Amino acid sequence: MAHREMTVDEEQFYTHALTNHKSDSAVVAFLKNQAKSGQDLQRQAGHLPVTVCCEVVGLYHNNGVMCCNCGRWSPRAASYKLKDHIKSGLYR
Ligand SMILES: [Zn+2]
Repeated sequence: MAHREMTVDEEQFYTHALTNHKSDSAVVAFLKNQAKSGQDLQRQAGHLPVTVCCEVVGLYHNNGVMCCNCGRWSPRAASYKLKDHIKSGLYR
């Protein structure tokens, strides 16, 4: 898959999804760690699920997704990956 640059809107959503949490979440720590070990941060983040409640990244938990912002759990089938979210223009 060819890499393409994100638009300003996409970039903004991306930042929002990764940082708009009530606390410095496990996801942020995870991503920082990944970046430190030389992983492609954007690529890693793209595979994270987006929550339907707060539209931020969540963590896979108990066959579902736990919201990093409000802690709500939703079924895995109801979520989609961050990169698909951006690609489909679903961000607001
Ligand atoms: Zn939420």
